[in-house]
Amino acid sequence: MANEIQTVAIYCGSNNGRVESYTQFATILGKVLAKRKINLVYGGTNKGLMGVLANSAIEEGANVTGVITERLKAKNQVHPNLSMIETFPTMQSRKARMIELADACIMMPGGIGTLEEFMEVWTLNQLGETSKPLGVLNIDNYFGNLIAFIEHMIAERFLPSAHINGIVVNSDPEELINLLVKFSPVTVEKWLD
Ligand code: AMP
Repeated sequence: MANEIQTVAIYCGSNNGRVESYTQFATILGKVLAKRKINLVYGGTNKGLMGVLANSAIEEGANVTGVITERLKAKNQVHPNLSMIETFPTMQSRKARMIELADACIMMPGGIGTLEEFMEVWTLNQLGETSKPLGVLNIDNYFGNLIAFIEHMIAERFLPSAHINGIVVNSDPEELINLLVKFSPVTVEKWLD
């Protein structure tokens, strides 16, 4: 059965990255969301790929909600043109709200903040606390080493092999959304022993 995806939470860098393809694909993803009438939830800032993504989605008419902490807001890092901004006292409460709003989550290239937020949702899915379709936009194979490391976890028996299907990976934004619509949750328990 197809998942109904009205709102996607996107985790991505507060920096732009080294090569232009990261910003190019952030722009394309923003356009695809608007075209498909999918609402965007993200970190709420104008910095880095987050700012590029939000600008593109807003320009194309998507509904964009920023979820930010009071500390970052006080640093004047809030994007000025959002449809909605929600402010939370801690990163923890902010992350919980982003997950609550999202029908699916996507990770684009970014740093440790991006990775941590995405991995939290994958972990919650694994423990049965949530059941969100999860996608990785693998621009220029940025996540190749991460995927290799996940395969290493499987080989070393810290992760059941079926759990690689807990995320979908694609380099094309439109195709990634299609995969999220078709996503089915992993039902295999996480414990191997
Ligand atoms: P990073 O990948 O380390 O640049 O961190 C980006 C992720 O952490 C984003 O998905 C945000 O949710 C959060 N984050 C980091 N810096 C900021 C910021 N200045 N404003 C809002 N969120 C941020």
